Amino acid sequence: MANRIAPLRIFVRDFTELVDDTSDEATLLAKGRGLLAELISGDDWLPDEYATARADRYAQYLLHCDPLERFSMVSFVWGPGQRTPVHNHTVWGLVGVLRGSEQSEGYELRDGLPVAGADRQVMIRGEVDAVSPTIGDWHRVTNSSDDVSISIHVYGGNVGTLRRRKLDETSGQLVDFVSGYDNAAMPNLWGLPAATPC
Ligand code: FE
Repeated sequence: MANRIAPLRIFVRDFTELVDDTSDEATLLAKGRGLLAELISGDDWLPDEYATARADRYAQYLLHCDPLERFSMVSFVWGPGQRTPVHNHTVWGLVGVLRGSEQSEGYELRDGLPVAGADRQVMIRGEVDAVSPTIGDWHRVTNSSDDVSISIHVYGGNVGTLRRRKLDETSGQLVDFVSGYDNAAMPNLWGLPAATPC
């Protein structure tokens, strides 16, 4: 039990080294994609409190934020039928499916409003996708499984604090939003549980 979180700790270490080495987006996405694929190749490291769906909407749990806010890491937990609005990110992002499957629909801005593009894909466990203002920043994500789905996201900033845009389905207009996070406490990456035998 004590070392189950090790893959997350190793990912945080390796991603910190990556952002120390480069700020080039294409390099970050290429190398980061490999790191995220390695992390999600196993599914025994995410503590249950960051893998729990909410009844009312999808949940976003902050797993780690770089002290210099060069990247953050979030587990998204989707109940059956839950989905995001059409939204942007304003920074690069990587999305890797840990459990279940998700449909991602790409959008592009035309005359100031997002329009569905040709990019529509179902991602299954182990697959990684990328977004950014450079390569395409607008999408909608839907849980396409009949059970809880979980994806692990990495962004080029402290994503829960960023002012972003989403499509308000009632008005049909873009509105500002700041996503925040659903957790107040972070995973313990660095220490053993109390009373671990020597
Ligand atoms: Fe997104």
